[in-house]
Amino acid sequence: MDHEKDDSDRLKPCPFCGGAAEVDCVRSEGGDDPNEGGYFIACLACDCSTGLRFACGEDPIPLLMETWNQRAVQEHGRPEVWPLKA
Ligand SMILES: [Zn+2]
Repeated sequence: MDHEKDDSDRLKPCPFCGGAAEVDCVRSEGGDDPNEGGYFIACLACDCSTGLRFACGEDPIPLLMETWNQRAVQEHGRPEVWPLKA
């Protein structure tokens, strides 16, 4: 009996509001944003997000997904997912 691991490439709902989330990347129009090129996962409904992770020799997206999904299943304490700062 094999256990399928298809969940590893899917994002769980937002830990705060249950909304859908997606991977995004910081882009600055002027090119002077120190966070430019950083990847994060953000809730489409309430704009909470993971911290930024930069691609340093490996694809950051699977790591972000793991972080997000682990936070999403925590039932106690505050998830380490922060509201976006405008
Ligand atoms: Zn949310």
